[in-house]
Amino acid sequence: MLIDAHVHTFPDDLAARALKKLADKTAPQITPVADGTVSGLLEEMRREQVDYAVVCPIATKPSQFEGILQEALAIRDGMRGADAARHLIPFASIHPDDEARFAHLTQTAESGIRGVKLHPYYQTCVLDTPNMLEYFRCCCDLGLVVQCHCGFDIGFPFDPLCGPERVAHVMREIPNLHFVAAHLGGWRQWGGAIEQLLGKDIYLDTAVLEPHFGDAEPLRLLREHPADKLLFATDWPWLGFAGGVRFVRSAGLPPETERAILGGNAATLLGITSPASW
Ligand SMILES: [Zn+2]
Repeated sequence: MLIDAHVHTFPDDLAARALKKLADKTAPQITPVADGTVSGLLEEMRREQVDYAVVCPIATKPSQFEGILQEALAIRDGMRGADAARHLIPFASIHPDDEARFAHLTQTAESGIRGVKLHPYYQTCVLDTPNMLEYFRCCCDLGLVVQCHCGFDIGFPFDPLCGPERVAHVMREIPNLHFVAAHLGGWRQWGGAIEQLLGKDIYLDTAVLEPHFGDAEPLRLLREHPADKLLFATDWPWLGFAGGVRFVRSAGLPPETERAILGGNAATLLGITSPASW
């Protein structure tokens, strides 16, 4: 079973403009591999036989909560087509400054959505402030998975909002939280991730872009972090599925460990019991 724990999509009418705007900030190092639409995502998933993908929207303003939740429910309930309902696992996004954040987290969990995406650069929050710890305690109590961007963001000047030390602090405060630290615990802060997170009871997703595939530190995290705490991810459309799988395989792990990372662990975390083959 192949499960991608971290992809992004954009509404059809905005995708081209949104991706161009993002790509202008990240070029020339990083360019998207696809158009960022739901249909583009499903087409590539079919081609590469990806069973499931966790779709991670980002509310850049508190007011976007409702629209994002409705879109997640539309995907889940078949309004975006049978393939989307069968293969996509939509998360919601609640802005940390949302005055109704606890009510909205509760509404998300009660509607059956399994997690929320957080991106401190786009939501201007510092990961381990007292306010954020309250936010995470609420997620933990509700059983919501938190999928969080960690480390630098290539589209912004560096700001230590969500580096590995802060992730480690959150996990010390709320050890039962299902926290997925994206980009192996800290995009381009992998030395910090090795110091702070390696070997700990925390999920790391494997979304690392092609220029860093051969770097020693991400490979070390892949090889030495507990194998049941690694989740395959691409950050599609920033990396294709074949590339993401190639990166995981480049660690040279035993086949059963590879299988756990590529899908088994995410299935356990998300309560998925069977593949959704194409
Ligand atoms: Zn992402």
